[in-house]
Amino acid sequence: MEELKITGVVITSIDYKENDKILTIFSLELGVVKAQIKGVKQAKSKLKYACQPFFVGEFFLIKKNGYYLITTINTIENFYDLTSNYDRYLVGTIILETIKLTFKDGMINEVLFLELLKILETLCYETTNEYMILIKYMLNFFKLSGYGLNFDKCAVCGIKLNGITYLSLGAGGLVCEVCKDEYDIKLEKNVFSSLKIIDNVDLSKLSTVKLNNNVLIKCLMLLKLNFNSIFKVKLNSINNILI
Ligand SMILES: [Zn+2]
Repeated sequence: MEELKITGVVITSIDYKENDKILTIFSLELGVVKAQIKGVKQAKSKLKYACQPFFVGEFFLIKKNGYYLITTINTIENFYDLTSNYDRYLVGTIILETIKLTFKDGMINEVLFLELLKILETLCYETTNEYMILIKYMLNFFKLSGYGLNFDKCAVCGIKLNGITYLSLGAGGLVCEVCKDEYDIKLEKNVFSSLKIIDNVDLSKLSTVKLNNNVLIKCLMLLKLNFNSIFKVKLNSINNILI
């Protein structure tokens, strides 16, 4: 039987039968894959550690009756430190949920996979504000999904955005005062400027940016609305940090 090797991040793990689990893995090579891992709930199982969200590893799979079965796992990273900081852990779970909600099995996005690893490393090992990391990730997620927000030009008429700006859920982007319709959401000036700064600064330099947490929360509320509107889903986990 042909064995496949993939490199991936565990997004979720659910119990299956008495001793097994089904892992949802976001992988570089095959995109989102669901794979069964046998006997993992038994006390002596050596593969238990790999069933945690955020675990990154090499997974060896075989395909049996149309289903993937995991045979061996090599650890690359487990981001265990995330569990010691509740706020950063929450942000991590929101990041994983964006993948879970929007990726169907077999959807591949190599650039987003590499971006996800960089983001999780920053979240786990750097001191960069976790809300800024999440905003940076969401802005990049929109871009890599083909729905990037343009902070320079109105999404409808193309005029330079430098005054009052609205998020248009209908047009899918930022629009000017002339192009907005009655349902569009007005951006406070500091929300617009904070989003634009985070969008322009490289992830590795984000720790040098100082922005107010209340403004960052407002940015996230806006990005949540945009996410839910684009993908027609509800990013529920983000509500844990918005209240
Ligand atoms: Zn316009």
